[in-house]
Amino acid sequence: MLLLNPGPVTLTERVRRSLLQEDLCHRESEFFDVQEEARTRLVNVYGLDAAQWQAVLMTGSGTAAVESMIASLVPESGKLLIVENGVYGERITEIAKQYGIAHEVAKHDWMQAPDLARIVDHLDADRAITHVAIIHHETTTGRLNDLRALGEACRAHGVQMLVDGVSSFGAEAIDFNDASIAAVAATANKCLHGVPGAAFVIARRAALATAASRTYYLDLKRLATLQDQRNTPFTPSVHAYYALVEALRELADEGGWQARHARYAALSEQVRAGLAARGMASVLPKDESSVVLRAFRLPQGIDYPKLHDALKVRGFVIYAGQGGLSAELFRISTMGDIHAADIERLLAAFDEIVR
Ligand SMILES: *Cc1c(COP(=O)(O)O)cnc(C)c1O
Repeated sequence: MLLLNPGPVTLTERVRRSLLQEDLCHRESEFFDVQEEARTRLVNVYGLDAAQWQAVLMTGSGTAAVESMIASLVPESGKLLIVENGVYGERITEIAKQYGIAHEVAKHDWMQAPDLARIVDHLDADRAITHVAIIHHETTTGRLNDLRALGEACRAHGVQMLVDGVSSFGAEAIDFNDASIAAVAATANKCLHGVPGAAFVIARRAALATAASRTYYLDLKRLATLQDQRNTPFTPSVHAYYALVEALRELADEGGWQARHARYAALSEQVRAGLAARGMASVLPKDESSVVLRAFRLPQGIDYPKLHDALKVRGFVIYAGQGGLSAELFRISTMGDIHAADIERLLAAFDEIVR
């Protein structure tokens, strides 16, 4: 079965085999070697300076990392502006509500790009705002939100950015030189090609220094402090860490995030052109889309469940549109061990179904 959903991904054999390494006690030095290798390699994915940046690992899915980042890095006296243009932005608002974090929302239609002028109005009108949360790749629609323009506005207002990079880290450009970026949350099982169960936040050490402690299990500062001491507060998902390390080695061997970006770009263009030729238009223009996932209009006369099931019996798992979009769209991700020949077979399967 080929997974074309946005994580968990189809694993390479190399990563799959890494799960079968020896059993480890998480209080032994062998585990801390694994933890350290994962943290070092994560900081190196974007070539960051370890004196300024820290990778903080945790056991959980991508949402755990996002929740840990939001609950920890907005200081007790801070206020968060959340840029919403999809399900994942809305999730950050839910998290802020849950923790009683002072917040405002710049709400957009799911199909809309963030309106920078409106965001700047928010920042101008409310000088209490200290942080802006944004989804880098809004997986709801496949839109790549423009971090560069937002970063500029944040720097001008002395505000810091908290980035949900869960479905972009490892495959899209992220300018960590942007001084407004305080942290990026992500996970092992999307563009990095690991397995679910390990997630992480890449955080500025300076941001960790002013962190709040609103959550017990996901307290980012405690996790960071202990991990810097080759320690861990709880039992980590040891096998997911094995897979993360192997996936990071594989990413480096293949040429790093830039090579992965180029590979995804070619695959997603192959999907886009192939489906366009079969009458299924992509929802967003190419220059607004990530290379990681694209949303397409459902073909005439076929609803999503029918398309999904017909593709599944042919060996492909695609992904529904979320919420109200499920009646109009389907999504195809090209993350994971997927190659041009797989996309050719996928398009041939569409030919059988849509005709
Ligand atoms: C997948 C994803 C998440 C986290 O989802 P989990 O199911 O917790 O892994 C968060 N944000 C974005 C943008 C995502 O694509």
